[in-house]
This record gives sequence, C-alpha cells and structure tokens, in this order.
Amino acid sequence: MKFAFVVHPLSEESKALWQMDDGGQLLSHWENGNLLEICDYVQSSVAEGIAFGGRATKGPIVLDHFSKLETVTGHVAEGRVYEIPCSPKNILEDPATAIEHTQAAVQMAADWGAGIVGLGSLTSVVGGHGQYVADNSPIPVTTGNSLTVYAALKNLHHACGELDIDLSQETVTVIGIPGSIATAVARMLRAKVGKMLMVARRPSQRASRIASDLDSELLFDIPTALAQSRLILSATSSGNCIAQEMLQTGSVVIDVGVPADVTRATRRRDNVLVVSGGLVDVPRSFLGKSMLLSFHFGLVPGCLAETINLALEDRTESFSLGRDLSVERIGEIGAIATKHGFSFSQLSSFGRPVADSLWASMNKVVGRHYSEALDDELASYDTVETDGKDRSNGLTERVAKEVRQETNGQISNGHAATATEKKSNQKRNTRQQNEDKQRKNRRARTLFQRYINPVLVNLAEQGGLNKTFVRAQDTVVTDAEENHYLDFVSGFGSVNLGHNHPRVVQAVREALDDGAPGFSPAAINPHAAALAERLVSIAPAGLEMVFFCNSGTESVESALKLARVATGRSGIVYCHGSYHGKSLGALSVTGNRSYQKPFHPLLPDCHPIPYGDLEVLERTLAARNMAAFIVEPIQGEGGMILPPAGYLSEAERLCRQTGTLLIADEVQTGMGRTGTLFASEQAAIEPDIMTVAKSLSGGLVPIGAMLARRDLWMKAYGTVERFALHTSTFGGGSLACVAGLAAIETLVDERLAENAANRGFQILEGLNKLRRELPEYFQDIRGQGLMIGVELSPLAESVVAHLKRTDSTEMLQYMMQGVDAMIASFPAVFQMQILLEHYHIYTQVARSNPLVLRIQPPLTIDSSKADHFLHSFSRTCRLGQKVENIFDEVITRSISGQHAANRTAEMRQETPQTSSPPVTASGMEIDEQFSQ
Ligand code: PMP
Repeated sequence: MKFAFVVHPLSEESKALWQMDDGGQLLSHWENGNLLEICDYVQSSVAEGIAFGGRATKGPIVLDHFSKLETVTGHVAEGRVYEIPCSPKNILEDPATAIEHTQAAVQMAADWGAGIVGLGSLTSVVGGHGQYVADNSPIPVTTGNSLTVYAALKNLHHACGELDIDLSQETVTVIGIPGSIATAVARMLRAKVGKMLMVARRPSQRASRIASDLDSELLFDIPTALAQSRLILSATSSGNCIAQEMLQTGSVVIDVGVPADVTRATRRRDNVLVVSGGLVDVPRSFLGKSMLLSFHFGLVPGCLAETINLALEDRTESFSLGRDLSVERIGEIGAIATKHGFSFSQLSSFGRPVADSLWASMNKVVGRHYSEALDDELASYDTVETDGKDRSNGLTERVAKEVRQETNGQISNGHAATATEKKSNQKRNTRQQNEDKQRKNRRARTLFQRYINPVLVNLAEQGGLNKTFVRAQDTVVTDAEENHYLDFVSGFGSVNLGHNHPRVVQAVREALDDGAPGFSPAAINPHAAALAERLVSIAPAGLEMVFFCNSGTESVESALKLARVATGRSGIVYCHGSYHGKSLGALSVTGNRSYQKPFHPLLPDCHPIPYGDLEVLERTLAARNMAAFIVEPIQGEGGMILPPAGYLSEAERLCRQTGTLLIADEVQTGMGRTGTLFASEQAAIEPDIMTVAKSLSGGLVPIGAMLARRDLWMKAYGTVERFALHTSTFGGGSLACVAGLAAIETLVDERLAENAANRGFQILEGLNKLRRELPEYFQDIRGQGLMIGVELSPLAESVVAHLKRTDSTEMLQYMMQGVDAMIASFPAVFQMQILLEHYHIYTQVARSNPLVLRIQPPLTIDSSKADHFLHSFSRTCRLGQKVENIFDEVITRSISGQHAANRTAEMRQETPQTSSPPVTASGMEIDEQFSQ
C-alpha cells in the first residue's frame, strides 16, 4: 500500500545544511553511494538527523520518495515524504497555519493515492495529537507515536542490558508528562522499575492524576529530578531542556524529544549515555530505497516506522491518535514491526551509533556506581550484625553462616526447607544458571569485539566465520547455537589429545580435590618434578634439564637466553617463514617481516636465512660466532612447510662443527603431531635445546617447557649467583604439571602418535588423489602425520584485476591496508567457509601463507572421520573450482565483449551512424551474469 509521511524542517541548522548543498552535490554523492565522502561532508553538521528537510517555502513539497519497500514476509509498501514550510518555532507559535499546511500535505498524499499518512514530529502534536487532522482527512492518519513509545522502551531495556542495570532497583525519571509519549512510557514502565519520578512543565490536573495513578512523585523542575536518578526518559516537545552538565555520572538518558531534549555539549562526556530514543532500525533491504532511509545509519524515527508498518499491513485505519495511547496497540505495532524485520537494539547517540568506547567507559562508571552501592549496603549490614566488634570478621562470619545455611538447604527465613522447596529451589537455580549462560554466550561476540579485538571480529564476520564455541569434547566443538563441528584446527596443535580428554580432566579434578598449592615458586613442587622426569624420558637423547614456563614464546625466550649464556656468543640464526612466538626475543627470530617491522628495533645479531638452504647455513655459521640456530622441524604457521630430506641432520652436523647450538622448536610439531612423539626423532637429530608447549598439558592448562643438555644448563645457571637468573612465577604450576603428566601417559598409552601417522597417511593419500582429479586447483599438498597443508592455486589474474576494479571508489583500499592479501586469500577462505557452513568442519587458513588451508585435527581422529573430511573437502574443492572458472569465464568474456564493443564504437565514430551507441559491459552486468 502507498503511504505518506509529513515532516517539517527540524531546525534552522538543517536549512543551513541544505543551502550548503550547493548545486545538489550532496544529493549526487548520495546517489553515487560514496559513503566516505558523504560522511566527511556532512558529519559535523548532520548529527542527530537534523539535516533533513528545509526546502519547502510556500506550501508542502514532496521531499523524498520511498521506492518499493519489501520485507522478509513479502509485504510491500511505497511512500512519499511531504515537507511543510514551518520550523518547530513557527508550529508552536502559530499552530493554526501549521495545521493548514499539514492538511494540504495530507490532501496531496490522498491525491497521489496514499492509503495512510503519518504525521512526523510536531505536526502530530498540534491539533489534538493528530485527532483534528484525522477528523478532517480523506485518508486514515497516524501520529506514529505508538511505535515511538515501543522503541523508546526497547532502547531503555537494551541500554540497561548492556550496562547490567537492574531496572527494578532503579529510580527512573520520565520527563514530559502529561505528553502522550511520556505518559504511555510511564504507564508501561512503572511496574518494572523501583521508583518513578515524573517531570511536567507546569502543574495540571492531568499530570497530577497520572502521577498519583502510577504512584510517582511529580516534580516541575528537571535538575531536581536529575539529581535523584540516573535513568531518564525524556519526551518533551520543547526540546533543549537538559544540559549534559546536569547529568550525574553514569546517567543514561533516552531522549525522545523532538527537537532533542539534551543539548549537545562542546565536549562529549564519556561517563553519561544519551541515546536518541524512539529510533528504529529498518530492515537491511530498505537501505538505499530513499534518501531518508540511507541517512541515519538505517535508523528512522518510530513514527515513520509505524506508518511504514501500517502500510505494509494494508491497514487503512487511523492509529495512535489523541493523548492517551493504547498500551495494547503499542504492543501490537511493536510486534508487527518485529515481524517485518525492524529492530530496536541499534542505539544512536548524537547522530552516531553508540561507540564501543562509550559502552566500555559507561560500563566502568556504572559498575563502579554499583559496587559502591553494594559496599554501602554491606557496610551497614555489617555494623548492625557485629555491634561494634571487628567489622571484617563480623562480615565474614555472617557471610559464612549464610553460605552454610544455603549449602544445608536452609532458606533465608531460617526454617528448614522441605523436600519440595529444595527441589523447586534447585530447579529455579538451574534455570537461572542456564539463562545466565545463554545470555553470556549471546553477548560474547559484542564483548569480544568491544574489549578484545574489533578487527578480528569484523573480518571474520564478513565470511560468517565468527563462532562462539562453548563446549568441546574430543574432536567435536559446539557453538552457542548447539551446532557441532569437527575440529580440524585443534587450537593450532594445542589439543592433540582431543578436547577435554577424560584422563586429563580426571587428573586435574583429583589435583583440585587434593588441595595442592597452585603455585609455589622457589619451593619443591612434586608435580613439576614428576612431569620433568617423564618429559625427559620421552625426549630426544641428551635433553636432561627442564625449565617450565607458560607458553611457546616463553619457551623460545628461555632457549635463546640459555644459548647465549652457555656459549658466550650472541648471534642467532633463524629461517625465513619461521614462527617462534611474538614476545620480543622470539619475534626477533620469527621470519615474518610484517610481524617484526612495527616493533623495530628488535634483538640485535639475529640472522634470517632461507629454510632448507644448507649452503647459506654453512656460510652463516662459518665464522663460529653464532650462539644458536633455531629451527622448526616443519614450519607450521609458515604454511605447513617440510624441509628437504636430510636438511635437519645436516644442519645438526654443521652446528656441531661450528660450536653452534641447535634449537629444535617443537612447540607445534611435538607431542605426537607428526607421527612420532617429537619430529626430531624422524629427522634423526638430537638437538641441544628443544622447546615444547601447546599440547604438553593436553590442551587444558597453559604450559611450556624448554629442555636442554645438562652441561649447557650447568654452564648457564649452575652456580649460586646464577641459578635464579631465569624464572617464571607460574611456570611449573601444579595443575599444569598434573595435566602434563596425564597427557603424556595418555599419548603413550593410546598410541596417538602412531594414529597420527596412520590418519595422516590416509588423509594425504586422499588429498593427493583429489589433486590428480583437479590438478589446476592445487599448488601443493604436503604434510607429515597430522600436520598437513593444502596450498591452493591463486585466483586467475583477470579475476584479481576484476575484484580490484569493483572497488571503483577505492574505498576498500582506503579503509583497509592488506586488501590485496584478502583477495589473495580468497581460495582458501572460500574453502574454510564452505567446509564450516555446509559440512561443519572447522579449519583455518595459515596466517603467513594465505593460500594454505591447515589440516590439523586432534590425533584421536578415527578413520571414518578422516574419510568424512576427505569426502566433504572433495566436494568443496569441486565447488571452489567451478566458482573460480565461472568467475574467470564471465570476466574474460565480458572483457573481450568490452573490447569488441569498444572496437565497434571506434568504427562507428569513424563512420557516423544514427542508431544508439553500443552498451559496454559494466561491473553490474558481470554480476548479473554471474548470478544467473
Ligand atoms: N613456536 C612454534 C613453532 C609455534 O608454532 C608457536 C605457536 N604457533 C610458538 C612457538 C609460540 O607459541 P605461543 O603462541 O604459545 O606463544
């Protein structure tokens, strides 16, 4: 159905902005969709959506058009925005003229064929809240206020949810009584909040009645109310009545006022949250369907959204008229909007989505406010209880008593709980715990993005690769939506035993029950001692001393330091493409310039050489001044790269010959991954120093270890002055060591290294068969045991060129360095995505080598799961190849089509013709062809 919406320019500022749009430049940018330019151009003046309108002069004009809007339910609507030539000031000073203009606009809408008309902003306030206009209108009318109320309440709940504010404990102020929106909000909110204050501009019978009906205090001055509460919902029609300085720290204001009630401050406060309330996020499919819709990050006022929803529903009846909005209708329109895909959780503040930084700082102040309140509560509680005795002990005793009571199944009023009470308490607690867990899982993505790594979340978001794994057992990980995935990443080799191996879990549980001290640095820890003995027993010969730490990078640090002290030399040789960790020392020997460069200067005297090149190694060691050569038996992060046969043993010989220590970094290759307990065994080397971590504790507790020859350790640390030169508080902690011991026993007893060799052979064989079938799709397939890499062929150059050309505004390039790398990683990311979404197999792309898909399942994988992987992967590869071929073909054809067309055009220029010029192929045409 067709709809119309009547607006007025919101302020003088908006007029200025449109005048600024000299020659319609702003509009033309809009049509080109160059958002960056638009944002630049309008950001400073546009805040709060005030920039819309201001063009009508004598009578109503059509300001904007909504082309066909279609929602997920298949409902459609089409609309127009009419602007009347009255500013807010004019409307309030001369409502009669404003009503006349509004009526004229309504008539224009009716003539155009609109089935309903919505009254925006103040046009809905004058004339009895739409009633007068409706009574004299040829078509139904709505003020749209019901959905505004609904949205404002949703906004408030959302903000409170984000900030963990319990409304039922709060005093909420509603400003703008007895206005229709404020009154409806107060009515719907009253039962949910602790206390309510209301603010009216002046005393009136209606305001007093509302306040007394809702058991609320009525005030006539805003500052007094703001001093008493931090949650404020403001909906006046006068605007600009709250200065930000008046707000207490931690205040949350849902500002539904038009114009806005909270004035802009020159310096934005980061300890108050002012939300432009009553806004609604339109369905994505609407974006671009009108200037207004594209304008405000997809947010539109509730009144417009209500009008659109009524039109989508073909409702030819007036709605939301008069001062008393119906609570039922508010609920009804909210449900309709939700059904059509409108949402209310995108909060906006002064014209921009609420930034993560603001949420973070607000969370801090609100959290502090709450802990202060809690402290106060506890303190008073304590004083009463202890009656002047030691406060802290009194409190502890009281809490302890409560805990005792609770664990004995007593309920708080002191009487012994009956069996039924106990049961229902238990049920309630379990339900509560489950709800809390689900809530935490739902919020995890937002919090991870806000507090841990926004880029990682955003990048993964693009490919639907964001998963919140909440449980895992053996080879299967489960996400928050209870989808199960076969884990072919294994925490990059940290869960060789499979997730939560029962033997390791049991060992940790027993240690917890035993009450062993978690950490006792400088004392003798029996668990560390036992693990060291066991580790030495399985390590390559000669490695007899163990230093425990907490990660791979720390084990590398320990190795580098030991090598320097033991040899008295400083030089370290390392390989291109290597990965040894990201702490400064380990980074200095990690052969990836993009990781190193931002942190220069790094450790001096570190020398990169090509992996697998014995000649260069020999030359580099010849001067006999290098302390160590650090090397991975197989490069994992570098893209699962195996060295040439015999490389490691020859490198060992060269090291021995030149007094250089050989450090084997087995952080990833160790603990059975490559088919033997350590990869050094297969390479037949005996390193002087070896690093391990990742799976050492079965993937449950962080641990790392450096193993070294006894003589080296003694030389470095074997004196009273030196024995404590290199230590770590947490290294060798009880739980980590208990888990480590259980992990080694499991690895050995269950012959997991052998299984890795067998399953690795099976997978490699299957992959090689696939490669023979799709030779062009693969560059290489390699691996040892279950450390396998599939290197895909790069995209055809024509495709890469096309992808870059699609970014015609270079917006992507501008926003993201590394867009080239993203395009390059397309084949592997495509595989990863399809495997994940369609076959529920979780893999990863090697970060240092974006064409390589890492195949690294837990070593417990059985042959049917390996087959399942092969079967799924063969399908995803066939699909991948098909997609790339189509891509290539379409592009090549369109490019040659373009050349042909250009040639024809040139010929035509030479011999002028009257017919229309040929149409050259455009990006859009290519996309169309592709979608066909
Ligand atoms: N060395 C190697 C060979 C590794 O693969 C890694 C981790 N991928 C590290 C060191 C660093 O380990 P961590 O991330 O535990 O510091």
